Amino acid sequence: MGQVLSGGCLCGEVRYRITAAPVEALYCHCRMCQRAHGAPVIAWLTVPLAAFEVSAGNPTAYRSSAKAFRHFCGACGTPLTWRAAANPRHVDVSIATLDDPEPIEPLLHLWTESQIGWFEIADHLPRYLTDRRPRPVF
Ligand SMILES: [Zn+2]
Ligand SMILES: [Zn+2]
Repeated sequence: MGQVLSGGCLCGEVRYRITAAPVEALYCHCRMCQRAHGAPVIAWLTVPLAAFEVSAGNPTAYRSSAKAFRHFCGACGTPLTWRAAANPRHVDVSIATLDDPEPIEPLLHLWTESQIGWFEIADHLPRYLTDRRPRPVF
């Protein structure tokens, strides 16, 4: 990837940079993402944790389950990232918070068992009922 991806929250207090190529990009329809983001589906970009740097602000951590932390802007509430609680090697970043989300296109759907009925998927990407899937597609 030669270029650096950048993004941030709605109010601009939290800014971040991504300095390595994406590992994966996907849609998540799980109930926890739906509630955390207040949205029917979330588009995630997975990057190496070492390549993710917060360049401004200090995101608030929320332990959303035994196995994960979600970070968000404490000032405006924008959900930003998901990472494993134990030994995280990667971090998932909400694609919609990138300054330019256009080129980062999700390539599969996870957790469609909790897809909301009125939310229609019109693409032909692979769909998985849970998070069981072949390893990274990039
Ligand atoms: Zn903010
Ligand atoms: Zn999810």
